[in-house]
Amino acid sequence: MESIWERSVERPQFDTLKGERKTDVLIIGGGLAGLLSAYMMREKGIDCILVEAERICGATTANTTAKITLQHGAIYDRMIRRFGIDFARLYLKA
Ligand SMILES: Cc1cc2nc3c(=O)[nH]c(=O)nc-3n(C[C@H](O)[C@H](O)[C@H](O)COP(=O)(O)OP(=O)(O)OC[C@H]3O[C@@H](n4cnc5c(N)ncnc54)[C@H](O)[C@@H]3O)c2cc1C
Repeated sequence: MESIWERSVERPQFDTLKGERKTDVLIIGGGLAGLLSAYMMREKGIDCILVEAERICGATTANTTAKITLQHGAIYDRMIRRFGIDFARLYLKA
């Protein structure tokens, strides 16, 4: 099934990487995790390169509903019991 993103968003395409490159940080995977990492590193002036084997935002990220929530699956009770209140607070802050 095609998601709304695949139908309505034009994703950038890039040429295959050729030759050798040097970087401080190599980010593998151009889904949400990789792209946000690259974005934040660039904002902090950290030298990084992101590589994607297939297509940017083509895997799990292509199907996300993109809602932002602090209570995804209401995992706090389990987290507190397993790792403690300080860990749960850190997760919430993140
Ligand atoms: C139907 C659905 C609804 C969702 N709704 C929400 C929501 O509302 N809110 C929410 O927060 N989350 C939601 N999620 C979860 C969220 O979409 C995922 O957690 C997130 O997109 C995962 O991103 P990712 O970067 O970890 O993985 P992916 O998007 O899977 O990206 C990983 C990328 O790495 C690449 N890759 C893998 N191996 C290599 C390699 N060796 N070299 C180069 N590239 C490689 C892959 O090709 C892929 O593009 C939903 C997920 C689904 C399926």
